[in-house]
Amino acid sequence: MTLHDVVRDLLPGVLSDLKDLVAIESVSADPAQAGEVERSALTIVRLLVEAGCPEALVIRGNGGAPAVLARFPAPAGMPTVCLYAHHDVQPEGDPNGWATPPFVATEIGDRLFGRGVSDDKGGIAVHLAALRAFRGKPPVGVTLFIEGEEEVGSADLAQLLEEYRDELAADVYVIADSGNWAVGQPAFTTSLRGLAECTVEVRTLRHGVHSGDYGGVVPDALTALCRLLATLHDDQGNVAIAGLGAAPPPALEYPPQRLQAESGLLEGVHWIGTGSFVERMWCKPAISVIALDATPVAKASNTLIPVARAKISARIAPGEDAAQAFAALLTHLNDHAPWGAQVTVTDGQTAEPSLIDFTGPYAEAAHAAFTEAWGVEPVLVGQGGSIPMVADFGKAFPDATILITAVGDPDSRAHGADESLHLGDFAAACLAEALMLDAFARLDALH
Ligand SMILES: [Zn+2]
Repeated sequence: MTLHDVVRDLLPGVLSDLKDLVAIESVSADPAQAGEVERSALTIVRLLVEAGCPEALVIRGNGGAPAVLARFPAPAGMPTVCLYAHHDVQPEGDPNGWATPPFVATEIGDRLFGRGVSDDKGGIAVHLAALRAFRGKPPVGVTLFIEGEEEVGSADLAQLLEEYRDELAADVYVIADSGNWAVGQPAFTTSLRGLAECTVEVRTLRHGVHSGDYGGVVPDALTALCRLLATLHDDQGNVAIAGLGAAPPPALEYPPQRLQAESGLLEGVHWIGTGSFVERMWCKPAISVIALDATPVAKASNTLIPVARAKISARIAPGEDAAQAFAALLTHLNDHAPWGAQVTVTDGQTAEPSLIDFTGPYAEAAHAAFTEAWGVEPVLVGQGGSIPMVADFGKAFPDATILITAVGDPDSRAHGADESLHLGDFAAACLAEALMLDAFARLDALH
């Protein structure tokens, strides 16, 4: 039997395990679901032990969320591959927004719906399929690292990487947590934007005052805040903050119709920014105002508002530094306070961007394995979002090859309602990973 046959035969079992994992509500952002995150980790340990893993355990950094560490020792002279995914998921949001119950994985047509089917329990299932393809005896050393707090910023990851450095050391890291280019079209992600968030508070008055008595001479804080926020972009919608750089754009072009459909941009609304679409989404910084604290409309009175607050999310170009980007944002906000308003900026979450070098024998072998499994050559893509752990891994293991793979496609709606997984792509991803491990074992010239 070829690996193609073996993987095809084991898919139904893997899919059924994926459905069981989706039924566990491992929402890391919800303290009430901590027990479910725990149950999810323990279920993965059980699945790995059943898959023949001699060593699988739950670990945690600083007493944080449970991660799974499992190891199949390398046969003599063989490299070690670390397979990453995360078992925590985003909150389901309003269940009424879903066509199917979020925690009941449901097949409709060629897709499987449910929270986490693509982000990232589908990634775990791909790893499971690849291991089962070798009946518990993979041809290379395999380490699995399945994180439990990726969706809340991986706060303890650095600590885990330090504490389990020896156990996690590998020649190749396969991070199955990104997006493919299209249904039927695999991709390796080679650049990720970073993130710097902040909250800006604007104060103009000691207390609210009558807008009729004082309006026209005394500035209200909300108008001042709006003027400040308006300085973040130029008229075309490009980020107007000094000190935020951009990375060189790839040759790929994002079809505008596809972007229109995926983003839900309303009729007549313009795109913002300049440059190609992928350049704007992957290579240049972006700034969004994601929340506002002010008097709600229902409670409005004719009062000049003394204080208003906004949360700003800055996406940072690959190659930039998150702390420097935050400093640039801070300087800009302080320098552009209108009318002498008092501005206080508080830092929020940050994530380092990444540029990944897709060269060398492992990358070439992976490219060939993916081409064979999918029947089409993979493309190299960037992501506008962040996977902070990529930078952490890159820093901890600078000599290793990092391969960022995916099970999701542009219609997977990770983090949103009706998250789904394309079953044909899932099958191809499982086969690709098995073929890739097999190919790594044949790179014996390296060892
Ligand atoms: Zn994810």
